Amino acid sequence: IPLIIGVTGGIASGKSTVARAFARHGIPWVDADDVAREVVEPGEPALAAIAERYGERVLQPDGRLDRRALREIVFADAEERRWLEGVTHPRIRERLTERLAAFRDGDAPYALLVSPLLFESGQHALVDRTLVIDVPEALQIRRTASRDDVDEAQAQAIVAAQMPRRERLARADDVLDNDTDEAGLAERVADLDRRYRALAGLPPER
Ligand code: ATP
Repeated sequence: IPLIIGVTGGIASGKSTVARAFARHGIPWVDADDVAREVVEPGEPALAAIAERYGERVLQPDGRLDRRALREIVFADAEERRWLEGVTHPRIRERLTERLAAFRDGDAPYALLVSPLLFESGQHALVDRTLVIDVPEALQIRRTASRDDVDEAQAQAIVAAQMPRRERLARADDVLDNDTDEAGLAERVADLDRRYRALAGLPPER
């Protein structure tokens, strides 16, 4: 594969929905959130390091990471947050690099790296082009509230803590406006698929 597209956007912008729409065109993807979970599974060195630093309180009875307990520790303490990122980020990046290399050796026309923190984490350096999924803030807040069982004030607070919309847009190579329904989204993805196939030097899908 000559081409890897990095897909990002704020909470509930539609990243997973968009990835599924590309999958209908035969496009594979890797989700950075899934990989972030993998690197702290039992048996992984990152989980061992975390358990050594914080002890039993960050483990569930079955030995898996208690994400909520860990979140509470690092939420309250920037230094601990940096320590945790120092342990997990290099491993996430290494694993993403492996997955993307496998895509590059595969025979799909192009592939996606879906990552909520594509720019913030520096993962944009792993891709050839970036696609930002954009929605107006009011719609983003509505979709967050209805999907995640939070109220609109909580959804608003989450959005406010993320990279500002205009900054994300300024960094995008391509923008997918997801202020539309599922059918509209499918059409926009089909347009992008044609462009990406052309960029990859391949004929359009038959
Ligand atoms: P997160 O990063 O927070 O996990 P996401 O960016 O992957 O979210 P999705 O889960 O794909 O976002 O979408 C958020 C919600 O909005 C979902 O409930 C999804 O069904 C809905 N949604 C996304 N796009 C559309 C659309 N074009 N029309 C209607 N609903 C949509």
